[in-house]
Amino acid sequence: MIKKTFTIITLFPNAFNNFLETSIIKKAINKNQIKITMVDIRKFADNIHQQVDDYPYGGGPGMVLQALPVINAILSAKKDDPTAKVILLSPQGQPWMQQLAYSYSQATHNYILVCGHYEGIDARVMAYIDQEISIGDYVLTGGELPAMVIIDSISRLLLDVIKSASHLNDSFSNALLDYPTYTRPVTVLNQQVPEILISGHHQKITQYRHEQALINTYQKRPDLLKKYPLSENDKVIIKQYQKLRQQIKRKGN
Ligand code: SAH
Repeated sequence: MIKKTFTIITLFPNAFNNFLETSIIKKAINKNQIKITMVDIRKFADNIHQQVDDYPYGGGPGMVLQALPVINAILSAKKDDPTAKVILLSPQGQPWMQQLAYSYSQATHNYILVCGHYEGIDARVMAYIDQEISIGDYVLTGGELPAMVIIDSISRLLLDVIKSASHLNDSFSNALLDYPTYTRPVTVLNQQVPEILISGHHQKITQYRHEQALINTYQKRPDLLKKYPLSENDKVIIKQYQKLRQQIKRKGN
Protein backbone atom coordinates (compact mmCIF):
# COMPACT_ATOMS: atom_id res chain seq x y z
CA MET A 1 0.00 0.00 0.00
CA ILE A 2 1.30 3.48 -0.85
CA LYS A 3 1.85 5.31 2.44
CA LYS A 4 2.80 8.69 1.05
CA THR A 5 2.87 10.44 -2.31
CA PHE A 6 5.30 13.29 -2.94
CA THR A 7 4.74 15.53 -5.94
CA ILE A 8 7.79 17.62 -6.76
CA ILE A 9 7.33 20.87 -8.64
CA THR A 10 10.69 21.76 -10.14
CA LEU A 11 12.55 23.25 -13.08
CA PHE A 12 14.98 20.31 -12.96
CA PRO A 13 13.22 16.91 -12.73
CA ASN A 14 16.48 15.25 -13.83
CA ALA A 15 18.17 16.39 -10.62
CA PHE A 16 16.21 13.61 -8.87
CA ASN A 17 17.30 10.72 -11.13
CA ASN A 18 19.98 9.24 -8.89
CA PHE A 19 17.94 9.85 -5.76
CA LEU A 20 15.03 7.85 -7.17
CA GLU A 21 17.24 5.02 -8.34
CA THR A 22 19.33 4.46 -5.23
CA SER A 23 19.13 2.28 -2.13
CA ILE A 24 16.22 2.64 0.26
CA ILE A 25 14.22 5.17 -1.74
CA LYS A 26 14.39 2.94 -4.81
CA LYS A 27 13.24 -0.07 -2.78
CA ALA A 28 10.40 1.90 -1.25
CA ILE A 29 9.21 3.00 -4.69
CA ASN A 30 9.50 -0.50 -6.13
CA LYS A 31 7.55 -1.93 -3.19
CA ASN A 32 4.83 0.69 -3.70
CA GLN A 33 5.38 2.15 -0.26
CA ILE A 34 6.01 5.67 -1.49
CA LYS A 35 5.24 7.35 -4.78
CA ILE A 36 7.21 10.28 -6.17
CA THR A 37 5.97 12.21 -9.18
CA MET A 38 7.55 15.13 -11.00
CA VAL A 39 5.87 18.22 -12.34
CA ASP A 40 8.08 20.24 -14.67
CA ILE A 41 7.41 23.97 -14.19
CA ARG A 42 8.44 24.63 -17.80
CA LYS A 43 5.40 22.72 -19.03
CA PHE A 44 3.35 25.58 -17.63
CA ALA A 45 5.28 28.32 -19.44
CA ASP A 46 3.11 30.61 -21.54
CA ASN A 47 5.66 31.12 -24.35
CA ILE A 48 7.28 28.91 -26.98
CA HIS A 49 10.75 29.45 -25.49
CA GLN A 50 9.49 27.86 -22.25
CA GLN A 51 10.93 30.77 -20.33
CA VAL A 52 9.66 30.92 -16.73
CA ASP A 53 11.98 33.51 -15.16
CA ASP A 54 12.18 37.26 -15.48
CA TYR A 55 13.88 40.36 -14.04
CA PRO A 56 12.84 41.53 -10.57
CA TYR A 57 10.52 44.55 -10.42
CA GLY A 58 12.35 47.40 -8.70
CA GLY A 59 15.72 46.16 -9.94
CA GLY A 60 18.36 44.12 -8.14
CA PRO A 61 20.46 41.08 -8.97
CA GLY A 62 19.42 37.82 -10.60
CA MET A 63 16.23 36.43 -12.05
CA VAL A 64 12.94 35.56 -10.39
CA LEU A 65 10.78 32.52 -11.06
CA GLN A 66 7.45 33.77 -12.43
CA ALA A 67 4.31 33.27 -10.38
CA LEU A 68 1.86 31.88 -12.95
CA PRO A 69 3.78 28.81 -14.17
CA VAL A 70 4.39 27.80 -10.53
CA ILE A 71 0.78 28.49 -9.47
CA ASN A 72 -0.56 26.50 -12.44
CA ALA A 73 1.82 23.63 -11.62
CA ILE A 74 0.52 23.63 -8.01
CA LEU A 75 -3.12 23.73 -9.16
CA SER A 76 -2.57 20.86 -11.57
CA ALA A 77 -0.99 18.75 -8.79
CA LYS A 78 -3.85 19.72 -6.45
CA LYS A 79 -6.40 18.58 -9.00
CA ASP A 80 -5.00 15.05 -8.68
CA ASP A 81 -4.82 15.23 -4.89
CA PRO A 82 -6.95 18.05 -3.41
CA THR A 83 -6.00 17.40 0.23
CA ALA A 84 -2.24 17.43 -0.41
CA LYS A 85 -0.29 19.97 1.64
CA VAL A 86 1.78 22.45 -0.39
CA ILE A 87 5.30 23.01 0.94
CA LEU A 88 7.65 25.68 -0.39
CA LEU A 89 11.34 24.95 0.13
CA SER A 90 12.81 28.25 1.27
CA PRO A 91 15.66 29.50 3.46
CA GLN A 92 13.01 31.65 5.16
CA GLY A 93 10.96 28.64 6.27
CA GLN A 94 10.51 26.73 9.50
CA PRO A 95 13.71 24.80 10.27
CA TRP A 96 13.39 21.11 9.32
CA MET A 97 13.95 18.78 12.27
CA GLN A 98 13.45 15.14 13.18
CA GLN A 99 10.28 15.93 15.18
CA LEU A 100 8.78 17.62 12.11
CA ALA A 101 9.83 14.70 9.91
CA TYR A 102 8.06 12.42 12.36
CA SER A 103 4.82 14.41 12.39
CA TYR A 104 4.89 14.69 8.57
CA SER A 105 5.35 10.92 8.34
CA GLN A 106 2.32 10.36 10.61
CA ALA A 107 0.00 12.80 8.80
CA THR A 108 -2.67 11.31 6.55
CA HIS A 109 -2.26 13.75 3.65
CA ASN A 110 0.34 13.78 0.88
CA TYR A 111 2.84 16.51 0.03
CA ILE A 112 3.44 18.78 -2.92
CA LEU A 113 6.99 20.18 -2.71
CA VAL A 114 7.71 23.39 -4.59
CA CYS A 115 11.39 23.94 -5.48
CA GLY A 116 12.45 27.53 -6.10
CA HIS A 117 15.44 28.58 -8.17
CA TYR A 118 17.39 31.70 -9.20
CA GLU A 119 16.86 34.56 -6.73
CA GLY A 120 13.61 33.00 -5.57
CA ILE A 121 9.94 32.94 -6.59
CA ASP A 122 7.47 35.77 -7.27
CA ALA A 123 5.93 36.47 -3.84
CA ARG A 124 2.39 36.00 -5.17
CA VAL A 125 2.95 32.23 -5.14
CA MET A 126 2.74 32.42 -1.32
CA ALA A 127 -1.07 32.57 -1.51
CA TYR A 128 -0.93 28.92 -2.65
CA ILE A 129 1.58 27.66 -0.06
CA ASP A 130 0.58 25.95 3.20
CA GLN A 131 4.03 25.95 4.78
CA GLU A 132 7.60 27.12 4.09
CA ILE A 133 10.38 24.75 5.14
CA SER A 134 14.11 25.48 5.42
CA ILE A 135 16.78 22.80 5.75
CA GLY A 136 19.24 25.18 7.41
CA ASP A 137 20.58 28.70 7.66
CA TYR A 138 22.41 28.79 4.35
CA VAL A 139 21.30 29.59 0.82
CA LEU A 140 21.35 26.95 -1.93
CA THR A 141 20.92 27.44 -5.65
CA GLY A 142 17.60 25.58 -5.73
CA GLY A 143 14.99 23.69 -3.72
CA GLU A 144 15.88 20.30 -5.26
CA LEU A 145 18.37 19.19 -2.58
CA PRO A 146 16.06 20.35 0.24
CA ALA A 147 13.15 18.42 -1.37
CA MET A 148 15.31 15.28 -1.39
CA VAL A 149 16.28 15.87 2.25
CA ILE A 150 12.65 16.14 3.28
CA ILE A 151 11.45 13.13 1.27
CA ASP A 152 14.37 11.05 2.51
CA SER A 153 13.87 11.83 6.18
CA ILE A 154 10.09 11.26 6.05
CA SER A 155 10.47 8.05 4.03
CA ARG A 156 13.04 6.67 6.43
CA LEU A 157 10.42 6.85 9.18
CA LEU A 158 7.68 5.33 7.03
CA LEU A 159 9.28 2.29 5.62
CA ASP A 160 9.31 -1.39 6.36
CA VAL A 161 12.55 -1.54 4.40
CA ILE A 162 14.17 -0.22 7.57
CA LYS A 163 13.56 -2.62 10.42
CA SER A 164 10.70 -1.11 12.38
CA ALA A 165 12.53 -0.29 15.61
CA SER A 166 15.77 0.95 14.10
CA HIS A 167 14.72 4.59 13.89
CA LEU A 168 13.72 4.73 17.55
CA ASN A 169 17.39 4.94 18.53
CA ASP A 170 18.28 7.45 15.84
CA SER A 171 19.86 10.69 16.88
CA PHE A 172 17.19 13.28 17.83
CA SER A 173 14.38 10.73 18.11
CA ASN A 174 14.51 10.90 21.89
CA ALA A 175 16.63 14.06 22.17
CA LEU A 176 19.90 12.14 22.60
CA LEU A 177 22.38 11.45 19.82
CA ASP A 178 22.72 7.82 18.77
CA TYR A 179 25.24 5.53 20.49
CA PRO A 180 28.34 4.42 18.53
CA THR A 181 27.80 1.29 16.44
CA TYR A 182 30.19 -1.47 15.35
CA THR A 183 30.07 -4.36 12.91
CA ARG A 184 32.37 -7.24 11.98
CA PRO A 185 35.25 -7.91 12.35
CA VAL A 186 36.00 -7.72 16.09
CA THR A 187 39.44 -6.19 15.49
CA VAL A 188 40.08 -3.43 12.96
CA LEU A 189 43.79 -2.52 12.76
CA ASN A 190 44.46 -1.95 16.49
CA GLN A 191 40.92 -1.23 17.55
CA GLN A 192 38.66 -3.68 19.37
CA VAL A 193 34.89 -3.76 19.65
CA PRO A 194 33.85 -2.94 23.24
CA GLU A 195 33.69 -6.34 24.89
CA ILE A 196 30.26 -5.87 26.35
CA LEU A 197 28.72 -5.79 22.86
CA ILE A 198 29.84 -9.36 22.19
CA SER A 199 28.92 -10.59 25.67
CA GLY A 200 25.36 -11.53 24.68
CA HIS A 201 24.08 -9.85 27.87
CA HIS A 202 21.18 -7.81 26.50
CA GLN A 203 20.36 -5.82 29.59
CA LYS A 204 23.97 -4.75 30.06
CA ILE A 205 24.22 -3.89 26.36
CA THR A 206 21.13 -1.67 26.57
CA GLN A 207 22.53 0.09 29.64
CA TYR A 208 25.96 0.51 27.99
CA ARG A 209 24.41 1.95 24.83
CA HIS A 210 22.36 4.42 26.83
CA GLU A 211 25.50 5.56 28.69
CA GLN A 212 27.36 5.95 25.40
CA ALA A 213 24.48 7.95 23.89
CA LEU A 214 24.54 10.23 26.94
CA ILE A 215 28.31 10.75 26.72
CA ASN A 216 28.12 11.25 22.96
CA THR A 217 25.50 13.95 23.41
CA TYR A 218 27.40 15.56 26.29
CA GLN A 219 30.55 15.75 24.13
CA LYS A 220 29.08 16.75 20.79
CA ARG A 221 25.75 18.50 21.44
CA PRO A 222 25.48 19.54 25.10
CA ASP A 223 22.63 21.89 24.08
CA LEU A 224 20.40 18.84 23.48
CA LEU A 225 20.86 17.68 27.09
CA LYS A 226 19.03 20.77 28.33
CA LYS A 227 15.82 19.38 26.82
CA TYR A 228 16.43 15.80 27.91
CA PRO A 229 14.95 14.62 31.22
CA LEU A 230 18.09 13.29 32.93
CA SER A 231 17.49 10.55 35.50
CA GLU A 232 19.53 10.49 38.72
CA ASN A 233 21.56 7.66 37.20
CA ASP A 234 22.17 9.73 34.05
CA LYS A 235 23.54 12.57 36.18
CA VAL A 236 25.90 10.14 37.91
CA ILE A 237 27.14 8.85 34.53
CA ILE A 238 27.86 12.37 33.30
CA LYS A 239 29.62 13.29 36.58
CA GLN A 240 31.79 10.16 36.33
CA TYR A 241 32.62 11.02 32.75
CA GLN A 242 33.54 14.61 33.70
CA LYS A 243 35.82 13.26 36.46
CA LEU A 244 37.47 10.83 34.07
CA ARG A 245 38.12 13.61 31.60
CA GLN A 246 39.68 15.81 34.29
CA GLN A 247 41.95 12.95 35.37
CA ILE A 248 43.07 12.37 31.79
CA LYS A 249 43.68 16.11 31.38
CA ARG A 250 45.77 16.27 34.56
CA LYS A 251 47.85 13.29 33.47
CA GLY A 252 48.39 14.98 30.13
CA ASN A 253 49.81 18.12 31.80
N1 SAH B 1 16.79 35.06 -2.33
C1 SAH B 1 16.16 33.98 -1.64
C2 SAH B 1 16.92 32.68 -1.81
C3 SAH B 1 16.79 32.07 -3.15
S1 SAH B 1 17.69 30.60 -3.28
C4 SAH B 1 16.10 34.27 -0.16
O1 SAH B 1 17.07 34.81 0.36
O2 SAH B 1 15.12 33.90 0.49
C5 SAH B 1 16.83 29.75 -4.53
C6 SAH B 1 15.88 28.65 -4.06
O3 SAH B 1 16.62 27.63 -3.42
C7 SAH B 1 14.82 29.07 -3.09
O4 SAH B 1 13.67 29.59 -3.74
C8 SAH B 1 14.51 27.77 -2.36
O5 SAH B 1 13.55 27.00 -3.05
C9 SAH B 1 15.83 27.03 -2.40
N2 SAH B 1 16.60 27.11 -1.16
C10 SAH B 1 17.78 27.74 -0.97
N3 SAH B 1 18.24 27.59 0.28
C11 SAH B 1 17.36 26.82 0.92
C12 SAH B 1 17.28 26.31 2.25
N4 SAH B 1 18.21 26.57 3.18
N5 SAH B 1 16.22 25.53 2.58
C13 SAH B 1 15.25 25.26 1.67
N6 SAH B 1 15.27 25.72 0.40
C14 SAH B 1 16.29 26.49 0.02
